[in-house]
Amino acid sequence: MTNFADLGLSQKVLSAVTDAGYATPTPIQAGAIPPALQRRDILGIAQTGTGKTASFVLPMLTLLEKGRARARMPRTLILEPTRELAAQVAENFDKYGKNHKLNIALLIGGVSFEDQDRKLERGADVLICTPGRLLDHFERGKLLMTGVEILVIDEADRMLDMGFIPDIERIAKLIPFTRQTLFFSATMPPEIQKLADRFLQNPERIEVARPASTATTVTQRFVAAHAKDYEKRAVLRDLIRAQDELKNAIIFCNRKKDVADLFRSLDRHGFSVGALHGDMDQRSRMTMLANFKDGNIKLLVASDVAARGLDIPDVSHVFNFDVPIHAEDYVHRIGRTGRAGRSGASFTIVTKRDTKFSDAIEKLIGQKVDWLNGDLSELPEPMESHDSRRERGRDGRKDRKKDVERSGRVRGDHKSDTTRLDNVTEFEPVAERAEAVKSERSADNRQSHASRHDRPSRSQNAANDDNRDRRNRNRRDHDDGPTPVGFGDEIPAFMLIAGKA
Ligand code: AMP
Repeated sequence: MTNFADLGLSQKVLSAVTDAGYATPTPIQAGAIPPALQRRDILGIAQTGTGKTASFVLPMLTLLEKGRARARMPRTLILEPTRELAAQVAENFDKYGKNHKLNIALLIGGVSFEDQDRKLERGADVLICTPGRLLDHFERGKLLMTGVEILVIDEADRMLDMGFIPDIERIAKLIPFTRQTLFFSATMPPEIQKLADRFLQNPERIEVARPASTATTVTQRFVAAHAKDYEKRAVLRDLIRAQDELKNAIIFCNRKKDVADLFRSLDRHGFSVGALHGDMDQRSRMTMLANFKDGNIKLLVASDVAARGLDIPDVSHVFNFDVPIHAEDYVHRIGRTGRAGRSGASFTIVTKRDTKFSDAIEKLIGQKVDWLNGDLSELPEPMESHDSRRERGRDGRKDRKKDVERSGRVRGDHKSDTTRLDNVTEFEPVAERAEAVKSERSADNRQSHASRHDRPSRSQNAANDDNRDRRNRNRRDHDDGPTPVGFGDEIPAFMLIAGKA
């Protein structure tokens, strides 16, 4: 087995790796580090969870030991699709670069331009950016890219999903042709292959197994449910309560609006829960994530875009409140658990209208997923409203009974669920649902793109940042589908108190 010491890394880097507690390189590290140190281009087909970040950070640190940065001329550039991923890469530089004195600048949206300008002015050895913010700085004349020796394009398939490819092509044209390029993608659809062919010269190709096919430590189960949201929420609560080994969990929803609804519902039911969605500002996201990592919050409800690439090493459970529309997202989601040989469990709530997507998942991962308590054909009758059940007796669902016994609030909760469903599309056709998620994704992208499309004068730029965020928030609200009528899920507390019969 290869050791870190055999890869050609510098002593400073090796000592930081030892301090981080890593004994052996992962396959992507063993494959990518030696050619990267020889200044070869790399095509890495690997996703988060495989140790790919260190596979470019460690050789970069070693190569950066020679030479120094000049003002406004970064030496290396890393492009990431999301702010969180960019921030995580910066953390990796702090961890592995603790024996170096390098200037690392993080250029992401949602943070003031001034601080970032100061870092650029000092001379950055490493620039970690989301594409939109980098172009903003470039257009403000604060940046020269002619000194970039290494370009890293991370999560290229995600960049494609998010509409960043034209930006990346523009950025690549600003960087000398003689650069070294390290290119990573979890998958290689034809568009990404074409991009790689254009950007890379005689690259070393390293492909590592997808976590879904290797993480035999993750138990995967489908759980049948009726399509109504309150049914799914009850199934989810049952599932969570049934997990004796649950340390912490991420619960994925397909849409931002559902993230907010589910968060409120779980909170009302007394769970320790937080939420992560695209509308939160950078600081709130970071605080939420830190609370989750530190164990102050046990459950985190998240959307795919918000959770993409988050490095949360020891999640014990993943719950898919919705079956992801893109099978690939399933692989990303369950890749949050069962890392580094730990055992993990994932549960996906499947309704009759989801079968097309659950079939696609099984096809992608090349295996059948077992059902937890019988498949869709064995579903018991749907829940009825609480009042009619009281008249006619129990329908056999233990959790509802438990909830009623636990708290008088359940009456209000149930009523609010029913209220919402009376007014909100109940069985959205599949195509519409896919469309809604797509439009939400592009709305998230607009957050990053908007700064260029709504270009203000340079002097107005910083002041307008907030306005843009606000405008985008409004636009995204429209993408979230129908607004609940009445109180929706936000029933005032006094209305949740059960009245005397
Ligand atoms: P990444 O794929 O870069 O998101 O890394 C996934 C996780 O693996 C992170 O928590 C890293 O700290 C961890 N990691 C990276 N390299 C190694 C290694 N050689 N051995 C064990 N864990 C590692």
